[in-house]
Amino acid sequence: MTNCLFCKMVAGDIKPDVVYEDDTVMAFRDINPQAPVHILVIPKRHIATLNELDDDRLGGQMLQTAVKLAEQEGIAEEGYRTLFNCNRNGGQAVYHLHLHLLGGRALHWPPG
Ligand code: 5GP
Ligand code: ZN
Repeated sequence: MTNCLFCKMVAGDIKPDVVYEDDTVMAFRDINPQAPVHILVIPKRHIATLNELDDDRLGGQMLQTAVKLAEQEGIAEEGYRTLFNCNRNGGQAVYHLHLHLLGGRALHWPPG
């Protein structure tokens, strides 16, 4: 998708702070972090929302990547949160699927 922000990152036209990359997924630090650790894990191919995720394996790879990064960032033991925002009521702003990894502080529940 030519006019998708995250596809531009995958293509290398925009360079985020990448913390992990392989053939299928990429992870980078959020530009507006909501916690000391705030990383986004995305599939390299364009999928607009969680509703369009048609690949169990890819979903698993994204989650496993988040867990590995939580360990790498030193937040696995204290705890962290992973989440997908989906569509308007879910608060999705960028329409390329992304898994948020948040940690490094106590997170409130329920979210607003
Ligand atoms: P959403 O609300 O769609 O779940 O989250 C989109 C996230 O993407 C937000 O947390 C926002 O800060 C982040 N974001 C938006 N634009 C950029 C950008 O240009 N670079 C990076 N690294 N993150 C971005
Ligand atoms: Zn995209």
